[in-house]
Amino acid sequence: MKVRTDEFKARSAETTRNPRRQASLKMVYDGLHKGRIAAAEDTHGWDDERDRARAIKWHTINNLDYYLDLLDKNVRANGGNVFFANDDAEAREYVLGVAKANNVKTVIKSKSMVSEEIGLNEAFEKAGINPVETDLGEYIIQLAKEAPYHLIAPAIHKTREEISDLIQEVAGGPHQEDPKDLTDTARALLRDAFRKAEMGVSGVNFAVAETGSIAIVTNEGNGRMVTSAPRVHVAIVGMEKVIPSMQDLSTMLRVLIRSATGQRISSYVTVVNGPRKAPEEDGPDEFHLVIVNNGRENLLKDEQLREAMLCLRCGACLNACPVYRKAGGHAYGWVYPGPIGAIVSPVMTGKKAGRDLPFASTLCGACKDACPVKIELPSLLLRLRSDLSEGKTDPKEASSPLAERLSIKVWRFGVQSPAMFSLAGKLSSLLMAPMSRQGWVRWLPPPLNGWTKSREFPRIASKPFRARFKKKEQR
Ligand code: SF4
Repeated sequence: MKVRTDEFKARSAETTRNPRRQASLKMVYDGLHKGRIAAAEDTHGWDDERDRARAIKWHTINNLDYYLDLLDKNVRANGGNVFFANDDAEAREYVLGVAKANNVKTVIKSKSMVSEEIGLNEAFEKAGINPVETDLGEYIIQLAKEAPYHLIAPAIHKTREEISDLIQEVAGGPHQEDPKDLTDTARALLRDAFRKAEMGVSGVNFAVAETGSIAIVTNEGNGRMVTSAPRVHVAIVGMEKVIPSMQDLSTMLRVLIRSATGQRISSYVTVVNGPRKAPEEDGPDEFHLVIVNNGRENLLKDEQLREAMLCLRCGACLNACPVYRKAGGHAYGWVYPGPIGAIVSPVMTGKKAGRDLPFASTLCGACKDACPVKIELPSLLLRLRSDLSEGKTDPKEASSPLAERLSIKVWRFGVQSPAMFSLAGKLSSLLMAPMSRQGWVRWLPPPLNGWTKSREFPRIASKPFRARFKKKEQR
C-alpha cells in the first residue's frame, strides 16, 4: 500500500471541513467508544484482566524468536506451510506463487490489515486474479477503491447513501436505502464469489505457538467460509500476533473483543489447525501461514518502542482519541490510523515521511486508558517527537522545519544563563509590543507565523515576575 503519511496536515484539514465525514466520525465515539466503556464496567476484574493480557504479550514479545520458532514447528507438524516474509514484496511474491501454482482465478478474503499493508489486492489484480473482500465493511471500501478508515470498522466514514450508490453500481436494479436490503444484496453478490473461489486469504487475530493454530474473530461468519470453503487457505499475520498457549488465547479474546466492539464475545471465533485431515470432510487441502516482518523489527529492536508490538489492533485508542475523531482515518496515510498508527507507521515505513504523525496528539492520555494491554502510547509519541526534533532519522527530511529548529536552539542557549534569559525576555517583550493587542499577539511575521495562523500567543510581560515580586516585597 502506498505510504502517504506526509500528507497528514492536508488530509486532516480536508476532513475537518467535511460535515458528512464529521457526522460519520461521531459514530466512533457514540457507538464504539461508549460500547467499550460499558463492556469494561460490566466485566468483573477488568483491570486485572488487562494486566494479565499485557503480561502475556510482554513475555511473548521479549521471547519472540522462541515463540515464532515453536509456531513454525507446530504449523508444519499440523501439515501446514510457513513462510517468513521480510518485507511486503516477499510476502506478495509468496502468496502470488501459491495462487499461480494452484491456478487460482478468484480469491475470497476475510479482513486482514496486513494484507492491506502489503498491497495484496493490487498484486492479485496485476496478476489477473480477482480478489473479493467478504467482510461487509471491507467489501464497501473495495468497491470505493479506498483504504480502510478504521482498524475494525473500515467503512465507518461512509454514509448510507454512499454505500447504496456503490452497491447499486455493481448489482444494478433499484436504489436501496434500507440497511437490511443493502446487506442482502451484498450477500447475494458475495455468495457467488464464495462458490467460485479456489483460494481464501484471511488475517489472523492470534497465532497460538503451542498448537500451531490461528484464531480469527468475526461477526459475519465470512471468516469461516474463507478458511474452509476454498481448496487453499493462506493466512497472513504480523509477527507480533503470536501468543504462547490456548489458555492465553482465552484471556486475549476477552480483552480484544470487549475493547474492539464492546461485545462480550463476537458472533464467531474460528480456530484453524492447518489443512483438512482424514477423516475430516471440511477444510482446505493446503494451508499456508505467512509471517510478516515488514519493518516490525524496527520496533522490536528499540527497548522503548518495542511496547507498540503489544498491540492487538482493537481500535480502542482510535475511538478514544480526540484527534482521530476529527482528522479521520485516511489522514494518517497508511493502514494503521490513530494513536497506534502515529507510532507504528513512521517507525515501520521510515520516520522521514511520517514526521507529522507523532505530533497529531493532544497527549491527553485517553488512548492509554482505553488500551486493553495498557500500551504507554503518550510516552511513545513523546519519544518519537524527541527523535524527530533532534533529527535522529534523516536530518534533511525528517527533522523539524528550519525555523522551529533554530528557535529551539536559541531558546536552549537563552535558558542556560539567568542573565541571558532575562535579556531575551525583555527583548521579546519589546519586539512583540507592536504586534500585540490587549496582551495577545495575533500575528507574527514569517517564518514564525506557524503558531499565529490558528492561535494567539500571549505577549511576554514587559516586567518579569521576579522584578514584580521583588517590588511587592519591598512595599
Ligand atoms: S494500541 Fe491498544 S487500544 Fe490501540 S489498537 Fe493497539 S491494543 Fe488497541
